[in-house]
Amino acid sequence: MDILVVGGGGREHAIIMKLAESPKVGKLYCTPGNGGISRYAECFDVAATDIEGVVALAKKLKVDMVAVAPDDPLVLGMVDALQAEGFKTFGPKKNAAIIEGSKVFSKDLMKKYNIPTAKYEVFTNSEDAIKYVKEQNTYPAVIKADGLALGKGVILAESEKEAVEAIHSMIDDKQFGESSSTIVVEEYLTGPEVSVLSFTDGKTVVPMISSMDHKRALDGDKGLNTGGMGTVAPNPYYTEDIAKECMEKIFLPTINAMNAEGRTFEGCLYFGLMLTSNGPKVIEYNCRFGDPETQVVLPMLEGDLCEIFEAIYEHRLADVKIGWKSGYCTCVVMASGGYPVKYKKGIEMFGMDDKGQVDGAFIYHAGTKYEDGKFYTNGGRVLGVTCNAYTLQGALDKSYEAVSKIKFEGEHFRKDIGQKALKALPK
Ligand code: ATP
Repeated sequence: MDILVVGGGGREHAIIMKLAESPKVGKLYCTPGNGGISRYAECFDVAATDIEGVVALAKKLKVDMVAVAPDDPLVLGMVDALQAEGFKTFGPKKNAAIIEGSKVFSKDLMKKYNIPTAKYEVFTNSEDAIKYVKEQNTYPAVIKADGLALGKGVILAESEKEAVEAIHSMIDDKQFGESSSTIVVEEYLTGPEVSVLSFTDGKTVVPMISSMDHKRALDGDKGLNTGGMGTVAPNPYYTEDIAKECMEKIFLPTINAMNAEGRTFEGCLYFGLMLTSNGPKVIEYNCRFGDPETQVVLPMLEGDLCEIFEAIYEHRLADVKIGWKSGYCTCVVMASGGYPVKYKKGIEMFGMDDKGQVDGAFIYHAGTKYEDGKFYTNGGRVLGVTCNAYTLQGALDKSYEAVSKIKFEGEHFRKDIGQKALKALPK
């Protein structure tokens, strides 16, 4: 089976490497891909959001399946367009991808079907939103743009002044265009955060191994929010009892709610959870594999990813054997100096072999380019340096040892990935 993967980050690299293990897989293609991916799959320069371009590429390559990984093409309806041309696909259709594409949709869904989440109100008018925030008078106030906003659409305002500024810039100054003309103001929750990706065909839901992201740019969870600076799996806060509770109160009810709305979800549904003192609550849904969660989850998968994708497409996920390795997997993201604000691209990288790898680790490329036998930086997040081991400390030691071998000017990485998880482990 020949497969085209749409996307070009560390997540797509991890998907491609897992697909490559499958005896069912023939040729692997990726668009736009990146330097690391290009060493394993033929890459093309069709943008991940170019629906017509991707359909045309799939036809030209005569692939058997297209897996769409990023949020924007899913929300724009790329899967619908591919299916209309007769391709097998992996990823939700447009009417189901809305679960990530509109926070108002997902909050209303949770309210209607009693799925635990933070209390909220929706506003399209800044005066009403400001009046509400002032009445609540509790900070941080959580202000969210309704639509996709490149992961920057959530503001945790520490004061009335910050909240008013955020509301004005979203609704009145259209900071994220139409995405922020409607906003959600919600209750601030506290507790450990857990990411749970799941496979679902709309009938069966199979949660993957849990993980923990590190969103802030600097050690000690300081600095700006980023796409993610590192991950560990499994997340030690996510006990078996909590997993059971999540299945009963969140995962199955969400799948059933989407079916009841006529929006059957097929693909990878990501649950961003907060384990509050009142039980687990949903912070957000994503309609696709998370990045960099995928980089620690897929290496732990004992199963054939190609078979899983096919089974989801054919609604027979319940028949597929899916297991998880024991031990831990850790990913330390190496970023360009200045990320997530301003950074240079095109800096030569040293310390990796011809495949962009380092002995003892697996390096998922996020923003790299491969030219004339050399790797260059080509994005904010550059690499996800990943290892697994029997213990969490062992996996972290191996990841950081591999990080120490890779050099590029301005490189930046957090030195405390996994520290919170280590403290949470039973002694
Ligand atoms: P992503 O890039 O993960 O898709 P996003 O822009 O969709 O992010 P959310 O995941 O909804 O945003 O929120 C980002 C972060 O803000 C969360 O991981 C969490 O740390 C924090 N957050 C969001 N909602 C709340 C809340 N109600 N209470 C406390 N913190 C919150």
